[in-house]
Amino acid sequence: MNKEDFPILNKNIFGKPLIYLDNAATSQKPKKVIEAMTSFYENDNANVHRGIHTLSEKSTVKFEKAHETVAKFIWAEKEEIIFTSGATESLNMIARMLEEDINEGDEIVLSVMEHHSNLIPWQELARRKNAVLKFIPVDENYGLAIDQVDKLITEKTKIVAITQMSNVLGTINSITKIADIVHKVGAYLIVDAAQSVPHLKIDVKDLGCDFLAFSGHKVYGPMGTGILYGRKDLLKKLLPINFGGGMVNGVTLETAKWGDLPEKFEAGTPNVAGAIGLAVAIEYIQSIGIDVIETYCRELTNYALDKLSAIPGVKIIGPGKSLMRGPVVSFTVEGIHPHDVAEMLNKNGIAVRAGHHCAMPLLTELNLSGVTRASFSFYNTKEDVDALVNAISEVKQNVSINKEISKTTETTETIDQELYQENILDHYKNPHNKLEMIDCTVKHPELNPLCGDKIVLYLKIVDGIITDVSFQGDGCAISQASISMLTDLIKGKTLNVVKTYTEKDVYDLLGIPISHTRQKCALLSLKALRNGLTSLEEENA
Ligand code: PMP
Repeated sequence: MNKEDFPILNKNIFGKPLIYLDNAATSQKPKKVIEAMTSFYENDNANVHRGIHTLSEKSTVKFEKAHETVAKFIWAEKEEIIFTSGATESLNMIARMLEEDINEGDEIVLSVMEHHSNLIPWQELARRKNAVLKFIPVDENYGLAIDQVDKLITEKTKIVAITQMSNVLGTINSITKIADIVHKVGAYLIVDAAQSVPHLKIDVKDLGCDFLAFSGHKVYGPMGTGILYGRKDLLKKLLPINFGGGMVNGVTLETAKWGDLPEKFEAGTPNVAGAIGLAVAIEYIQSIGIDVIETYCRELTNYALDKLSAIPGVKIIGPGKSLMRGPVVSFTVEGIHPHDVAEMLNKNGIAVRAGHHCAMPLLTELNLSGVTRASFSFYNTKEDVDALVNAISEVKQNVSINKEISKTTETTETIDQELYQENILDHYKNPHNKLEMIDCTVKHPELNPLCGDKIVLYLKIVDGIITDVSFQGDGCAISQASISMLTDLIKGKTLNVVKTYTEKDVYDLLGIPISHTRQKCALLSLKALRNGLTSLEEENA
């Protein structure tokens, strides 16, 4: 639907038409949004609020109108819409705005499925104020354990901050059910709507939330834009946390009088072009109809769930189609690391994301280091899903053929031969030096936070020589091959020699061009070596 409005979707990647299935990370931009921003800079560019001249007047009117457009979209009032740089900034802001109300021993309730952006700001608030964090667990159907909400929210609860749609599981949480419980105990309800705003009709009053955060770039608007909605009566009472120009009604040398809403919370020169672009994006969505988008994406998601779950070895990590869920479909492919799956799909022109998706605690809870995620928009089609399914099936087929061969050769599963050199695959299939070392001098764990690769490096050092080396852990083909090769290289070498090894030495070992996104995988081994030796030096200092 409406694919022709998105210039980027005509691109080819590796000679294949781009199939963009990474919409949960960011959506593509319709031509209208791009043109509106260019037009602002070509015709209207001036700072807002402070100028009498014509351009400043035009810019101010457009910026204020953008507030109105966003307000109408989520059924709020203009004064309740604060422009930010994204959901992350919105959530950080509200955590600081509420700080004055939080005392030692107060409780903040979150869920296990939160994105880091709706977790770390609250961790930091709890640390600053000696408050207590509590977490609503995820049940066996990948939903919120709603029966526990009643027990977790108590008279001590001051803040409940919950995502409306999980960016990993696709689960849609019933905010209205939670809102009743939250308000009974007089706590604040904050909703992370980064994933839900592009796909669901949002009425902040119906939801019963006090604050709601979302990002402009996931809703077809520009990067660097976001919204913090706050209930007007609360915003009037709360104090600003950023100070400077544009947010005051009067200033003396000693004091300042805060401006009206929403300027009180929008200090400094705002991202006017971004706000205008976001408003145009919202108007564009409204021209299609958010209910049309919701229905279309639900059907596409159900189709994808059916097709993907029919592939042997593919496991969906998220609710089935009978449950409330959005168009975010995460999965694992037996025997293939999510990074390798994503790389193979990329070679077919298919853009998906792999890793922990900034929800590390959720992945830990599910006992997974990463998942591959396909996320859909209204410009995706069933043909896109078919292409995804075919590409994964092909990869799986390779694996099973290789498995058959491996029965006689005693090797383990393998992955796409065309993608990685035989040397890398050899080390991946049969890693060298992969075992625990008990009598080691150094034991150093290292993690690649991008994809969840975890290794532990063991070194035995005698008289400045690495007499033995081994490692444990799992990861993608690149990171496993890299550590396997590096351990071979350093065995028997002096520390003085080993310390001279650089990134280039690791790339030379791997012998293939390493794309920017895979550099962390490739260099995890070197990082473990360097940090392991540094901690030994610190111990001996
Ligand atoms: N919350 C959720 C659920 C998200 O998916 C994201 C983005 N992945 C964020 C918050 C943070 O959004 P941004 O990076 O645009 O600030």
